[in-house]
Amino acid sequence: MLSADFLKPLISAAVMPPVRMELAAWTEKHRELPAEQSASPGPWRNDKFPFLVEIMECLSPWHPCETVTFAKSAQVGGTEIGFNWMFYVADQYPGPMLIVHPTIQAAQAWVREKLSASIRQCRRIRHIIVEQKSRDGASTTLFKSFANGFWVITGANSSVDISSKSVRYVIKEEIDRWPDDVDGQGDPEKLVNERQTSFTRSGLAKTLSACTPKNAADSRIWAAYMKGDQRRFYVPCPHCGFEQVLHFFPNSKGRGGLVFEKQPPFRARYACADCGVLIEHFHKDQMLARGRWIAQNQGEAVQPSFHINALYSPVTTWDKIAEKFLDAKEDRNKLITFVNLVLGEPWEERGDAPEWVRLFERRSDYDLKTLPPGVVLLTCGVDVQKDGVYFETVGWGTSKRSWSVDCGFYPGDPSDPQDPVWDTLSKLMRETYPDAFGNRRSIDLLMIDSGYQANAVYAWSKKHAFTFAVKGMPGWLTPAVGTPTKQEINLEGKKQPGGVLLYPIGTWPLKAELYANLRKALNDTGDEQTPPGFCFFSRQHDETFFRQLTAEFLKDVKRGGRTRKEWFANGANHFHDCRIYAMAGFEYLRMVEQLDDERFELLRLMRETPPQQAQADLFTSPAQAALKDAARKAPDHDTSKPAADSDWIGDLDDWI
Ligand SMILES: [Zn+2]
Repeated sequence: MLSADFLKPLISAAVMPPVRMELAAWTEKHRELPAEQSASPGPWRNDKFPFLVEIMECLSPWHPCETVTFAKSAQVGGTEIGFNWMFYVADQYPGPMLIVHPTIQAAQAWVREKLSASIRQCRRIRHIIVEQKSRDGASTTLFKSFANGFWVITGANSSVDISSKSVRYVIKEEIDRWPDDVDGQGDPEKLVNERQTSFTRSGLAKTLSACTPKNAADSRIWAAYMKGDQRRFYVPCPHCGFEQVLHFFPNSKGRGGLVFEKQPPFRARYACADCGVLIEHFHKDQMLARGRWIAQNQGEAVQPSFHINALYSPVTTWDKIAEKFLDAKEDRNKLITFVNLVLGEPWEERGDAPEWVRLFERRSDYDLKTLPPGVVLLTCGVDVQKDGVYFETVGWGTSKRSWSVDCGFYPGDPSDPQDPVWDTLSKLMRETYPDAFGNRRSIDLLMIDSGYQANAVYAWSKKHAFTFAVKGMPGWLTPAVGTPTKQEINLEGKKQPGGVLLYPIGTWPLKAELYANLRKALNDTGDEQTPPGFCFFSRQHDETFFRQLTAEFLKDVKRGGRTRKEWFANGANHFHDCRIYAMAGFEYLRMVEQLDDERFELLRLMRETPPQQAQADLFTSPAQAALKDAARKAPDHDTSKPAADSDWIGDLDDWI
């Protein structure tokens, strides 16, 4: 009989891996969080993130699951868990691994800003990772190898990179930002999944998706979470022992939830859903330590899926969460960010149209073609149809409150650039509207849809300042106003010197924002209480206008195995489109003029100056001086990002 001692010399390091450890134990032994990107640098401690231990168990090779889904808020270790697994694979269970970001640019930034420091900080693996230039010169793939395996780090926007290699392990990073289609080859997620086929057959494949959900209408991570066994982290009340999931808002029976004061220091505490006693924040660590995951979906789901929110985060406090909510609750974009990043939940759009009759009945007592007090900026949206053009001019006030100040239809043949309809539209650009202060004001920016008669629209737009040719684009992540492209072909199909800029408009989120605003009710307590974003209409608006304004609705659509919500029209929707383009015009002005609340207020003061006064001190008006001053001092910041992506939540968000 052969003894173990006899075998020893025959086994080389190459065939005998080191002692196999579980992922969580390995992580605690070898991982160190780098100071430059961590809120709590130093050795990894599982007792700091106790809720991550079970997720790591599922990622260990002997766990039978194939996919691990982690729908999460910021600040709960979502990024780190990916690093833990990558490093563990390289050291313990080497194999080919594919890490896919939304774009190649995002992947490169992630390697540069996060991965490199984390590798340097991990003594165990930093010497076994070999940087390699891609073998294919054309590929932008980042490739790092180790004995018996490699990491391919790339973007879901490159079909070449995500279709080329067979892999055992996959990490889908920020999957809610992946495109719907890659290079016309369909859903990138499907392409990625196909890379694992041979390993799936042998039962060795494993995938991790950890992501903060974005929009419920097309959230990939939320769909995967719902399909899985939906584990929630239950923690016991320190007073009565009742095990419960921590929620920011109370449940439907008014129990549970965070309780806090509206002013600093907020004194946020958690109301036990059973005994009702307010749990102090200092109990959190102890509650987390005694917590456990319980699956909500005990049916046929076989793959584990986890959800957690920032109330559990060991690197933020309940007070800070309360503060963020109070800051966000009046502002739709901030509230969306709060729901995504703090609650870890997708933002749900209401897809049913607001009732047009209710809007018709609550029209306000002002005339069209006049500017009620409060109107600061004017934008116009134009929808081009076969038999003429529709337009709406919208006045914008503080906190995105709006007044519909003009609308109509000019009949004609827009396909003919000589048709009088184009002159009529030119007159609209020269139109001045009287305001409440004795001034006459004209349209600040007009956006005209080029989807139907592109060349005629380009030709007209080229002749008029402050008019943009636009094109509506689908998608829940498309920014309100995207980067314009130059259109250089004229009516005769010849190159047009200079060309015209065409602006892509992300209409889907704007439609959702419009409906959310249309649902708001005017408070009885007077103008002071008008909700932000409230839409005013004149007593002269007719039934057709409201029917068209509310003609769209959301419907589930299946595409390539995925279901997402898309907009559909229920009858004529021209005034709806006009409003969406007018909203886009306002978003553009806010972006390029950097109109935060403060600068918008200065602009309001300037424009609400009676003409005599403005004449008297045209160059010395305090408002103008102040606005110029503000412009000089305005910090350089990137305004190209959609507002919902702003980093208002703070730096801590970054490392997780
Ligand atoms: Zn209790």
